[in-house]
Amino acid sequence: MLEPVNHSAEPAPEKINLLELAPAKLIDWFVSIGEKPFRATQILKWIHQLGVTDFEQMSNISKDLRAKLASLAYVEPPKVLKQWDSADGTRKFLFEVAGGSAVETVFIPDGERGTLCVSSQVGCSLDCSFCATGKQGFNRDLTVAEIIGQVFVAAQSFGQLQPKGPRKVTNVVFMGMGEPLLNFDNVVDAINLMMDDNCYGISKRRVTVSTSGVVPALDRLGQFTDACLAISLHAPNDELRNTLVPINRKYPIAELLASAKRYIEGLPDTHRKMTIEYTLIDHVNDRPEHAHQLVELLRDVPVKINLIPFNPFKLSNYKRVSNNALHRFKNILMEAGYTTTVRTTRGDDIDAACGQLAGSVNDRTRRAQRHRAKVDTEAVKILPLDSLS
Ligand code: SAH
Ligand code: SF4
Repeated sequence: MLEPVNHSAEPAPEKINLLELAPAKLIDWFVSIGEKPFRATQILKWIHQLGVTDFEQMSNISKDLRAKLASLAYVEPPKVLKQWDSADGTRKFLFEVAGGSAVETVFIPDGERGTLCVSSQVGCSLDCSFCATGKQGFNRDLTVAEIIGQVFVAAQSFGQLQPKGPRKVTNVVFMGMGEPLLNFDNVVDAINLMMDDNCYGISKRRVTVSTSGVVPALDRLGQFTDACLAISLHAPNDELRNTLVPINRKYPIAELLASAKRYIEGLPDTHRKMTIEYTLIDHVNDRPEHAHQLVELLRDVPVKINLIPFNPFKLSNYKRVSNNALHRFKNILMEAGYTTTVRTTRGDDIDAACGQLAGSVNDRTRRAQRHRAKVDTEAVKILPLDSLS
């Protein structure tokens, strides 16, 4: 005889990490559990402004609702495995993320400004020839909780998430591990949390998405955010860029710059410029003729240029640009009228400089074919963190 079906014995729904939800999604979630939308504002403030993760401590929420929240949700930032402090004030965090990998985040103080360099993926599939993250291969996208969690933890480590605590993290740049535009939805949600006044309230002029040139995603970006844009160019012509930034074979410079220009010109505030990142590598892309080509290439593009001396790491044969070549390159750009800055190497003593962010990527899925953004599933062994520094 058939047993009667017990409809009440449905499996309990999985609890949700509220750090996963961007403001609009948190409102929807509260409505979906039969609560008023304003609860989202209260919870965002408790979490992101006050650093409270325990519902029991949220004193303006009724006891009943606190119990309901605890049965349906939790708030859990990624765990800090290690933290390093550099002599120059730079602080690096190593976060454990689900799946046994680790990603890095760097805080760089500079006077009143405190820039947090966040990771968006575990490793990166794009394999730029001069990048330590690329050498790690790709494992997976970070979740929204893992991205915004980097801001949460860094801010908390400086006492920022206390009532009237000092505001240390003033800027966020997606220049850590990973290609943010290949983790589009999660990056956009995390940006919305960073910018929301009930969370960190960081202005659109202080959040920067850096991309090596995923053009179709860049074409969509303006529909979802008005953050600042940095383009990792590194070469003034396709022939050279193909060898440094493999995705260039798919989306060459002209397409990339046209897309970036559309993004910048589509922003509601005029006069915003994109940043061109140019990593200078000794005898590779640091010749005067490269600088002159760059001057021509960028003539009609609203840019400021950031020169980054290449940061050497173990698995690379490239060398840092010489000081002479760096100044010669910079002068050519300045004389042509471009605002040009040189990124000073910070946190060198703790391997926190650009391109040294390697984390530790478990079960890396290296691309069988280069120049393809998608990854295959061949798992390779873990590379110890210190092999890259
Ligand atoms: N994937 C994104 C963001 C992360 S990389 C991008 O490529 O833009 C952040 C910046 O660091 C990029 O401009 C990248 O080209 C640069 N970079 C990577 N490796 C470097 C290295 N070894 N030395 C100096 N800059 C490096
Ligand atoms: Fe990926 Fe950026 Fe590194 Fe290229 S430079 S491999 S896109 S993280």
